[in-house]
Amino acid sequence: MGRAFVYVILGGGVAAGYAAHEFVKKDVPHGELCIISDEPVAPYERPALSKGFLLPEAPARLPSFHCCVGSNEERLTPKWYKEHGIELILGTRVKSADVKRKTLLTTAGETISYKTLIVATGARPLKLEEFGVTISDADNVCYLRNLADAQRLVNVMESSTGGNAIVIGGGYIGMECAASLVINKVNVTMVFPEAHCMGRLFTPKIASYYEEFYKSKGVKFVKGTVLTSFDSNSEGKVTAVNLRDGTKLPADMVVVGIGIRPNTSLFEGQLTLEKGGIKVNGLMQSSNASVYAVGDVAAFPVKVFGDIRRLEHVDAARKAASHAVTAIMNPDKSIDFDYLPFFYSRVFTLSWQFYGDNIGEAIHFGDYSGTTFGAYWISKGRIVGSFLEGGTKDEYEALSKMTRLKPEVDDLAELERQGLDFATTV
Ligand code: FAD
Repeated sequence: MGRAFVYVILGGGVAAGYAAHEFVKKDVPHGELCIISDEPVAPYERPALSKGFLLPEAPARLPSFHCCVGSNEERLTPKWYKEHGIELILGTRVKSADVKRKTLLTTAGETISYKTLIVATGARPLKLEEFGVTISDADNVCYLRNLADAQRLVNVMESSTGGNAIVIGGGYIGMECAASLVINKVNVTMVFPEAHCMGRLFTPKIASYYEEFYKSKGVKFVKGTVLTSFDSNSEGKVTAVNLRDGTKLPADMVVVGIGIRPNTSLFEGQLTLEKGGIKVNGLMQSSNASVYAVGDVAAFPVKVFGDIRRLEHVDAARKAASHAVTAIMNPDKSIDFDYLPFFYSRVFTLSWQFYGDNIGEAIHFGDYSGTTFGAYWISKGRIVGSFLEGGTKDEYEALSKMTRLKPEVDDLAELERQGLDFATTV
């Protein structure tokens, strides 16, 4: 058995939702587009899972965060897909792909063929087993990537009120989950091997601000060490975590956020891969002209830095998805994607944004004992990256515009003195 579509989006996450939205803006004929997703629900804004979804009061629940509310556009509910003649094939996993024949085979045994495929399979969390730690599938050990994970985390969190949570990993999943756990009255200890939180992005000075803030909320940090094993009880529940430095931490629950791996396996040996993802050109087109890739799974040319990068952030997924659809539907008008990397996070009452690249020398500005502060990164005499906590919409826009221009700076002391004013006056 089988079905044929002109356009198939494989994966039903953020990039899929934004791609569907763009297809409709471009008047895709009814019946020509389908989305295949192993999740049971229509595409939604994944970042909500570690923020609004985990709130104890009035938590966000679907349909409130279906795509594309994240960019203040209409909410694409299942009804919307139906009204626009888009087939949503949900709860369906694709187990193999044949890019020469242009077919996908689902675990239900159906063959779905396409003329053009958009791969938007995202990524999966790295598991502790990959680092030699076993029994991480215990009931009270949580990962966070999809709705099912988030629901499970909520259940475990609710049964751990007043108890101890160990958060493994100091990246944004760990930081956002730790904040949510505290808000839910669970005591948190964060454990990670780096010298400070958000090790891939923050400078020690920026990290120190957030760590002090977290400490003021009762969060404890155990840095420079890793988890080596769990203690568990007769019900298979984890009761403590053992660290390499010999420490044993009692645990009512564990949250693991130690990174992700892009879901490329269906295409290995069929498409060119780079940086762990599917290599695409400026149109988001892979080494096979009928296959495009967007979102966490795609490695694309970042023009402003002249190299290929794979970004694991929602804004890139949204914009690359729209870009790919424009290239597919209006090939005459298509130009190369020109994207300035942008990440953000919100925790407690804090909120930061980052643009560009965090290489070279960091110049910090603003009041690190107050609420608004930031940093510029300078490489080869130019500003290549910028960070701001507690900014206004206009200030973030100014920062983004300035970073894209990569202005030359010769007097770093003067840049430090001007601080945010530098960005708003460039
Ligand atoms: P996803 O949204 O992950 O979608 C991939 C989809 O493909 C999923 O539906 C998956 O089930 C499906 N799929 C995969 N393989 C198959 C298959 N073989 N068959 C069928 N379906 C398949 N980014 C930020 O910039 N800021 C944030 O604050 C932020 N917060 C986040 C919080 C959480 C909890 C998480 C998990 C991520 C967060 N991100 C954030 C990252 C952001 O959500 C991702 O960059 C974005 O979701 C990538 O979109 P995507 O469509 O590529 O992948």
